Amino acid sequence: MTSPVYYVDGRFVPADQATLPLGDLAIMRGYGIFDFLRTYRRVPFKLREHVLRLYSSAEQIGLAMPWSVGEVEAIVHETNDRNGYDDAAIRIVVTGGPSPDLMMPGQQPRLAVMAEPISTPPERQYAQGVGVTTTRMARILPTVKSLNYLGAILAVVEARKIGAVEAIYRTPDDHVTEGTRSNLFIFRGGKLLTPESGILPGITRQVVLEVAAREYPVVLTDLTYADLLGADEVFITSTTKEIVPVVKVDGQVVGGGRPGECTQDLMERFKAYVDRCLTEAVA
Ligand code: PMP
Repeated sequence: MTSPVYYVDGRFVPADQATLPLGDLAIMRGYGIFDFLRTYRRVPFKLREHVLRLYSSAEQIGLAMPWSVGEVEAIVHETNDRNGYDDAAIRIVVTGGPSPDLMMPGQQPRLAVMAEPISTPPERQYAQGVGVTTTRMARILPTVKSLNYLGAILAVVEARKIGAVEAIYRTPDDHVTEGTRSNLFIFRGGKLLTPESGILPGITRQVVLEVAAREYPVVLTDLTYADLLGADEVFITSTTKEIVPVVKVDGQVVGGGRPGECTQDLMERFKAYVDRCLTEAVA
């Protein structure tokens, strides 16, 4: 397969030639942000929402964004068109850029856009559900999609050792907030519950809330570890996962050990929503 084409700091280059200077604050200090979206049959899904979240992340960490929303979107489209993948994973990265003392941010952030064929979870994860662990790691500035996934990497490495696919952040007062790369939902007594704050506002989460609101009472509220273990159904959401049922938490069976009916219903509704978006996009 040919190498993907990336956009880096003003130029389109083959991925294996895409580089950043070592002195960039993103490399030296982890000062930078990104967003991650996918395409369905070449159409970017919720592009505007992802780009706006990128701007929100930048603003929250005081990172200059010298590009307009329209410019960023045009670069995403061009990167997508140049690669021509049916279903692509697209990463928009903004790095801190050069800094005179490798500490204070300057005014020359760098923009990169990467595209690859998307790799989605195996079918059995949707059919049988997955296991997750919980971790005492915490994200600083959880509403920011920062480049720093240090805690996430350590937690997922631990999770994989026991066959779990994701780790859920658990606070000192025993709340569960979100996964390292996903948002968390439970069904309890026919209601859909998910945390409101202290999380990354997931774009998939937003779609799920929208489609669910037509069918189920939705409650935005803090969730405790006990809530998670006692839930009727549990699932996680993300751009690559969409909706994945959770059947084990820290090795303990939850939700009867199989994907719940309401979760499966939402999985169907999510797919239908995507199909509607695609039809509207090509119409
Ligand atoms: N929380 C975190 C910490 C994430 O990294 C992600 C993945 N971007 C999500 C939630 C899910 O967000 P989205 O649905 O926009 O992919």
